[in-house]
Amino acid sequence: MVVDLATGAETPLAETEAGILGKSLAKNTCPDCGRNGFYVGPSGDASTNIYCANSDCKAAFNFAYVFGEGHAERVGKALDRYKYPGEDAHE
Ligand SMILES: [Zn+2]
Repeated sequence: MVVDLATGAETPLAETEAGILGKSLAKNTCPDCGRNGFYVGPSGDASTNIYCANSDCKAAFNFAYVFGEGHAERVGKALDRYKYPGEDAHE
């Protein structure tokens, strides 16, 4: 449960934007393009950066499990220096 400190409103974690994103990612589905599959990037603490494997999308997320539920925030796009299979190196 997430509580808004200003209003006191309670929202189940799974219904927050982070929870909705996390639920999709936990099912291996990109919330932006709907395709399945991700590449895994750096991780720290309990979270991991993951990147949509669709090279036309490359949506990037910081994903973690919070209280056993998938939870994520957008962190832009996969960096250009991450070369996708089949792509030429970005030099
Ligand atoms: Zn995608």
